[in-house]
Amino acid sequence: MSGLLDGRPRVGYSYSGKGATGLLFDSLRNLTVNDVKSIPVMVRDKTSVYDAIVTLFVEDVGTLFVVDEEGYLQGVVSRKDLLKAAIGTPDLSRVPVAVIMTRMPNVFTADPEDNILAAAKKIVDYQVDALPVVREVSPGKLKVIGKITKTTLVRQLAEASN
Ligand code: ADP
Repeated sequence: MSGLLDGRPRVGYSYSGKGATGLLFDSLRNLTVNDVKSIPVMVRDKTSVYDAIVTLFVEDVGTLFVVDEEGYLQGVVSRKDLLKAAIGTPDLSRVPVAVIMTRMPNVFTADPEDNILAAAKKIVDYQVDALPVVREVSPGKLKVIGKITKTTLVRQLAEASN
């Protein structure tokens, strides 16, 4: 309940007027993407679909970010992208993820300085599970420095309501 009641020396307590929802919103509004980002799992563009599926399980993630040999963002591969490829492809070890990924410039990203509510809105509006957090090294060249996922956002909600 901290924040609901403002303490005043020798006066006691007065109602801050914000309400629990307002306080929850305040605590989320003050967080940036950089504060809450988690570690991204990346694969090379030439990684096979088979190895990408194994990586998904080993790393226990739902989205893989695809990078080129210099580590620049090339695309995104989701669970369903891999599932779809697995249904229709005879030899998954011969198909690179570059063939099935959603590729740049169609990848939605988040900046480290973005507010997390802006990132949440992007995830909802674009109907994706995850955004790579990127830093632009030079025009069109993005390094992935983190990720924001639905899980990240739910975790923040749960923590903010404690
Ligand atoms: P799933 O496909 O497992 O439901 P998503 O909803 O995240 O997971 O992905 C839906 C589609 O959007 C997939 O084709 C995926 O490649 C693409 N996608 C996922 N994340 C992004 C992103 N950040 N920017 C653009 N496209 C994305």
